[in-house]
Amino acid sequence: MSELRKDPITNSWIIIASERSKRPFDHNQLENSAAAEPVKCPFCVGSENMTPNEIFSYRPPDDKTKWWVRGFPALSPILKIEGELDQRGFGIYDTVNGIGAHEIIVESPKHGEDFSEMDTNQIEKVFWAYRDRIIDLKRDKRFRYIMIFKNHGPQSGASNIKHPHSQVIALPATPKKIKEELDGAKFHYGLKERCIFCDVISQEIQIDERIIMKTEHFAVLAPWAPRFPYETWILPLKHSHDFTSISKEQIIDLSFVYKKFFKALYKVLGEDISYNMILHDAPNLLRREGYWKTIEDDFHWHIEVIPRVTRIAGFEWGTGFYINSIPPEHAAKEMKKIIYQ
Ligand SMILES: [Zn+2]
Ligand SMILES: [Zn+2]
Ligand SMILES: [Zn+2]
Repeated sequence: MSELRKDPITNSWIIIASERSKRPFDHNQLENSAAAEPVKCPFCVGSENMTPNEIFSYRPPDDKTKWWVRGFPALSPILKIEGELDQRGFGIYDTVNGIGAHEIIVESPKHGEDFSEMDTNQIEKVFWAYRDRIIDLKRDKRFRYIMIFKNHGPQSGASNIKHPHSQVIALPATPKKIKEELDGAKFHYGLKERCIFCDVISQEIQIDERIIMKTEHFAVLAPWAPRFPYETWILPLKHSHDFTSISKEQIIDLSFVYKKFFKALYKVLGEDISYNMILHDAPNLLRREGYWKTIEDDFHWHIEVIPRVTRIAGFEWGTGFYINSIPPEHAAKEMKKIIYQ
């Protein structure tokens, strides 16, 4: 079983997952992203028996042999669902056994299809799947954080399976990146009794220099201090800390936003662009009910899209300072022009 260890100096968690290195179809392993695609895609229609037992599927009511979206445990999971949580200290060190969930959501029955090509009603089903999996996993008291993300293309750390899919990882600890956002949002709320994300949205809309797209329910923007060229945040205009509170109207709108956004991104950066997509949602508060009184008001869920056009090198690793050669004002202008042409 894998193991989570906390760095005693920075408080960031890492996962020691030694058994994964021997598995086929491994996610995130560098050697596999360059490997040839498997002869038979395990995520395709007709290969359902190549995946672990299905957790859920959305199927057409009139033909249950077909599916639109399906989910199952990862072929080589980072964390395992079975077992009791075991948190220990070894002197100054903290560790938690590798309990968690690691699932795959196959986004479409069509191999190689991406968000720019999908029908918006197909994209809607992907967001419903995100919502349903978060709701289900948040019922489990062992899980502190549910992370949904997508690696697309060889520069993103994606596996050699080209079939469109997202990953869900339920963690027994809140990741440091999330903790930093939560703490920053809480601090701002403590000072001003306002959500920092709501403040960012209203200021960005007002000055209109980094807004890429604005719809009835969402703002798409290049952040003020982006770490990467063309880094983009997608935020709901209506304040909510919790992705699972998303409404049907918001999902319909978000699917439209996604299609338009990715079409424009491919146009600007090329069809073969790699990217990471990350959903930043509030943590699971089940285990610590009441400890974070203002989270509903101070945190604001959002999606981050990070095109992988640059490599992270020594300076960035060593300092946490990112060097970005494209000003966000330029990126936003370029994207906006294509979206509204
Ligand atoms: Zn496939
Ligand atoms: Zn807000
Ligand atoms: Zn974020």
